[in-house]
Amino acid sequence: MTVTPHFTGQPVVAYLCAGSNIGDKPANCRKGIDALVNTAKTRLAALSRFYRTEPVDYADQDWFVNVVAKVVTTETPLALLERLKTIEVETGRQAGGIRFGPRVLDLDILFYGDRVIDTAELVVPHPRMHKRHFVLKPFCDIDPAIVHPTLQRTVQALLGDLDTTGQAVSVFSCDF
Ligand code: AMP
Repeated sequence: MTVTPHFTGQPVVAYLCAGSNIGDKPANCRKGIDALVNTAKTRLAALSRFYRTEPVDYADQDWFVNVVAKVVTTETPLALLERLKTIEVETGRQAGGIRFGPRVLDLDILFYGDRVIDTAELVVPHPRMHKRHFVLKPFCDIDPAIVHPTLQRTVQALLGDLDTTGQAVSVFSCDF
């Protein structure tokens, strides 16, 4: 039997969204994902294309670049969130700032297996993901048939239902 020494918990498939609208946006997203998956507890299983996306909720800011990553992790949900917050800061994100406003790097947990979590620190599935073109479109590059654990709809169906007015997304070519 082969024992992988660093993996102590049960590996779980999680989906994350990275976004940036300051500096080298695709590089910031890539750096954030690399920082996460270059640890013993998390590995990258798939990465969507990168997208140039229109800002939502707070329109008076530069367009974003977004990408969705599928990872396999033995981090607990809260430990994964803490890792993401640390990586955001290490990548240059400033504390505070406008809610939904400009940021060097934003990392969100979309799904953590089919777990449903609703705590002060962490809500999973991400509470706004099903309304966001910049999440659903890249997600469908990877796993369109995954069923949202509370809405009981596939990600592809959620994308099909979405009113995308004011939520333009287009593929952003880059070398990653
Ligand atoms: P923001 O980085 O502006 O998207 O918001 C981050 C805050 O949202 C953090 O303080 C987290 O505790 C909280 N949060 C709640 N649910 C999630 C989630 N699914 N993914 C990332 N952050 C979350």
